[in-house]
Amino acid sequence: MIGRMKTIASVEFGQTGEILARLKKQAIPAEIRTVTQDSGLEMSEIIVEDSYFDHGCDVVEAWDAERLAEQKKMSRVYCRRCGSQNYDWTWDERLGYIYKCKDCGDDFVT
Ligand SMILES: [Zn+2]
Repeated sequence: MIGRMKTIASVEFGQTGEILARLKKQAIPAEIRTVTQDSGLEMSEIIVEDSYFDHGCDVVEAWDAERLAEQKKMSRVYCRRCGSQNYDWTWDERLGYIYKCKDCGDDFVT
């Protein structure tokens, strides 16, 4: 008997590879369904059988959290004056991180 299929993730077209690999690692069979949104944007829905739904959602959540952490790392801090990423920083309890640019000598906080 085939269970009901449920969507565990809706991601941009072509972004399914990593999630599918993770699902495969957890032995969760999944399928891709391409849907076109009203805006014309194509999205890929990852669907699994009902019995795999909870487990599948956990996998997607873990992937999403890691992706967000990665994005945070990418959006680094730049010097306010010269745009350099060459700086030292110190932690101040009141102000948070204080950066000192090695290129132009400017102090800045974010
Ligand atoms: Zn600078």
